[in-house]
Amino acid sequence: MKLKDPELLREAAFVAGAWRPVRNDGDTVINPANGERVGEQPRLQRAEVEHAIQSAQAAFREWRQHTGKERAAVLRRWADLMLENADDLAQIMTAEQGKPLAEARGEIVYAASFLEWFGEEAKRGYGHTIPEPKRGQRIKVIKEPLGVCAAITPWNFPSAMVTRKVAPAIAAGCTVLLKPAPQTPFSALALCVLAQRAGLPAGVLSVVTGDARMIGEVFCSSHLIRKISFTGSTAVGKSLMANAAGTLKKLSLELGGNAPFIVFDDADLDAAVAGALASKFRNAGQTCVCVNRFFVQRGVHDEFVARLKAAVATFRVGDGCADGTTIGPLVNGAAVDKVTRLVADALDAGARAELAVAATGAPGESGSFYPPTILTQVQPSMRIAQEEIFGPVAAITRFETEEEAVALANDTRYGLAAYVYTQNVHRCHRLERGLEYGIIGVNEGLISTEVAPFGGIKESGFGKEGSFYGLDEYLDSKYICHGGAA
Ligand code: ADP
Repeated sequence: MKLKDPELLREAAFVAGAWRPVRNDGDTVINPANGERVGEQPRLQRAEVEHAIQSAQAAFREWRQHTGKERAAVLRRWADLMLENADDLAQIMTAEQGKPLAEARGEIVYAASFLEWFGEEAKRGYGHTIPEPKRGQRIKVIKEPLGVCAAITPWNFPSAMVTRKVAPAIAAGCTVLLKPAPQTPFSALALCVLAQRAGLPAGVLSVVTGDARMIGEVFCSSHLIRKISFTGSTAVGKSLMANAAGTLKKLSLELGGNAPFIVFDDADLDAAVAGALASKFRNAGQTCVCVNRFFVQRGVHDEFVARLKAAVATFRVGDGCADGTTIGPLVNGAAVDKVTRLVADALDAGARAELAVAATGAPGESGSFYPPTILTQVQPSMRIAQEEIFGPVAAITRFETEEEAVALANDTRYGLAAYVYTQNVHRCHRLERGLEYGIIGVNEGLISTEVAPFGGIKESGFGKEGSFYGLDEYLDSKYICHGGAA
């Protein structure tokens, strides 16, 4: 890595405004493209995590006094610093996560957009006045920050998942303890360097690294932490919810998905293929809104498959730092093993492999690469249609009628994102209502933006991130009733 500003790569945790270096307690972070060491992160002790919570509570007393406009100024400077340092931040991300540099750079811009957006929203934590039911009363509702919040983030978007949680919390006047994913701590820590430079006071944001289970337990049992916002697997989300019951915390859970992508006979096929590429293969298929199941109507099935094959055959798999790479490695060997198992199971059960692009340019055997693959004749009963693939594999099922497509799409415990391609406006309206998902892309494959509420239903979790809904997740409504008014 050749960073313009080497200070951005910190092998340390960040607690109460101070850097806590590795002290013979380092966990190594590996570059998934080549197996090389990126750096080490410290394994904090339980007492250190508890100290971080105390310091966040102390910082909260001060931070909540700042006006929205003052908080906005810090968030704005922080966003600008991210954009100024986008090349370095992208390099750090590609080294630890694997995605191609252009995608990493795109994520930095997206991540900065949450700082900008929520900085602007910080000025708009409006309350209400309510007409009194009795003479002499005056009723108002004011919005107040929750207090200390915890954020637990995944490795697939090492910066954007951080700012999507931290920005609204800080904008609302809360303070935050962040536990980044162990695979990608350096992107989060680089953001702390920039937050400090932007003038974020000590203790408003701390980053704790180390044993996930221990940190999760400390967060859940702490009476000071008012909310946990988590993005990750459904299994861990459920265990956090159970453990947080003891202190009755607020939760936002953004968990697994099983996104359907439905292409009807009347679809614009060029648009459908473009949407399929964006929503299936971005980040090598490792996003929670990635298509998991393609349903294609009989009349266009073969043509859609042919066009998708032609487009996917142009992908170039390799190290995300290499010129021209469009698909990087999966996050680690375990991820490759899981995708390999799901594909083998599908083939055994009768699916047909249409395409497996050789890992052109993929360096040696040390990287965790998986070739982009297209499967047809996938049946809903196959594991690949029921579990989150999290890899560059398009699993395609043919269908006959709209009713059948909706039933297939809804036949899952998950409910995060769904995609529909049709040019029939009446069908669009039916599907908007009929699909049991928190997010629906109609003739659109890229649905993530800071201005809209991202979040699922069913076992994909609850709580919204982004937009004005996202700020509200970090605010309490306090009702005040004055009596005896003149
Ligand atoms: P994945 O399998 O995609 O890594 P996880 O749900 O395991 O998804 O991880 C998402 C985040 O949750 C990571 O930051 C991880 O360290 C954290 N995590 C994993 N297990 C626990 C746990 N028991 N308590 C709290 N956080 C956890």
